[in-house]
Amino acid sequence: MSEETIFSKIIRKEIPADIVYQDELVTAFRDINPQSPTHVLIIPNKLIPTAADVEPEDEATLGKMFSVARKIAEDEGIAGSGYRLIVNCGQNGLQEVQHLHMHLLGGRPLGRMLPG
Ligand code: 5GP
Repeated sequence: MSEETIFSKIIRKEIPADIVYQDELVTAFRDINPQSPTHVLIIPNKLIPTAADVEPEDEATLGKMFSVARKIAEDEGIAGSGYRLIVNCGQNGLQEVQHLHMHLLGGRPLGRMLPG
């Protein structure tokens, strides 16, 4: 069984976070160390450690993460200017927290996706 991270405590509201959206499938909250004016993390309530652990039964949750990203982008006023959705996975992807999360970044030009 996978070990819980701090994100499970945020979902259960056992530790504080600036939650901008929550339903039965996903939770979204502002990143503690924002890289852009809007930086929100959208996560499944179910503990899926990484993108490499996604199962077919998770497809509804993953789809919800995208529709919630769209809603938050609209709420934040960045839908028109554009934004970036990032899912880091594993060691080379530099995933720090082992609970699947989608970064929603926007509010400024974000530059190239990768350096170089
Ligand atoms: P990763 O590198 O795993 O894709 O991104 C993890 C993200 O989680 C980082 O952007 C980091 O700032 C954010 N983060 C880590 N711990 C916390 C926390 O306790 N609260 C919040 N709101 N964000 C966190």
